[in-house]
Amino acid sequence: MALTAPPLHENRWSPPAGLSDLEVLVYRSNLLASDRAIVNFGGGNTSVKAREVDHTGHETTVLWVKGSGSDLASIVPGGFTGLRLDELLLLTGRDEMTDEEMVAYLARCQIAPSMPRPSIETLLHAFVPHAHVDHTHPDSIGAIVGTLDGETLAEECFGPDAVWIPYIRPGFALSKLVAEAVAANPEAKIVLLAKHGLVTWGETAEESYAATLEAINRAAAFNAERTAGKAPFGGRRVEPVGDAERADLLAAVLPVLRGAVSVDGPRILQVDMSAEVLDFACGAAAPDLSQVGAACPDHLVHTRRRAVWVDFDPQSEGAGVLQERIVERVSEWRARTGVLRALPQ
Ligand SMILES: [Zn+2]
Repeated sequence: MALTAPPLHENRWSPPAGLSDLEVLVYRSNLLASDRAIVNFGGGNTSVKAREVDHTGHETTVLWVKGSGSDLASIVPGGFTGLRLDELLLLTGRDEMTDEEMVAYLARCQIAPSMPRPSIETLLHAFVPHAHVDHTHPDSIGAIVGTLDGETLAEECFGPDAVWIPYIRPGFALSKLVAEAVAANPEAKIVLLAKHGLVTWGETAEESYAATLEAINRAAAFNAERTAGKAPFGGRRVEPVGDAERADLLAAVLPVLRGAVSVDGPRILQVDMSAEVLDFACGAAAPDLSQVGAACPDHLVHTRRRAVWVDFDPQSEGAGVLQERIVERVSEWRARTGVLRALPQ
């Protein structure tokens, strides 16, 4: 089987009338993140540069950017931090800045001290000279920027519409690089960050949203075209079991797995039997692919670097074998990673 072209992400822009700039930003953020193929949990950030009246009664331009601790799908106005843009832009004259210096400086630019700590990617939003900026880590973009030949693929998919930024960890230097690249390529519509994600912008909130959707749809169509006729994950290594057999297997192994991962306190399991997960788990390349590390830093935060892989062939092996292997593999993983330490008896 082959990957088929995914359905396009439809433009669903329809905000209620009468919203403030910050409220429209909340609407745009919630709308983007309502699709987890666009915004993964806790990942990405959005911003608007808006005229606001400060505590002294003076009007000033404020950068509203996502604060830490919020997820874009459920973020509310209080999840954003307002910072004085003119003070942020003074930093474009600097050559370098450590994370600590940057965090301390940003804290002093907040229009109110009680706002959440601004994102580590705040200056990227400040330095891109457009009113609205979206920064996301979408699946279809990750499939391009996370590969060894990502720059070539990006050129083939987007041509001059995209600017490619080689990998550099988020912080002051990356923000300056992106700003310089946008200034040097006025025709570009998007920035692609190697091993990281996407930056889009617009003069209106709707333009920024539409630019994000267009980039994601283009990448998804390109990926589907390039993988057409090719079996994903190296072809099938084993065939998925039928529904009845799967229910029996799960009933036999889930209590064992739960016990194995609950050594330091109770854990709740979640089972995903979607077609995509079955394709991966049954793929010939899955044992290796499962150990290459997370596709995106956000995944790393929530899943750790490498999954526990448990070999199993339902055609020739039974639930007892799987139970034993689960205990062995989880125990090896605990020894290797040092997490899930057993509580003293
Ligand atoms: Zn990012």
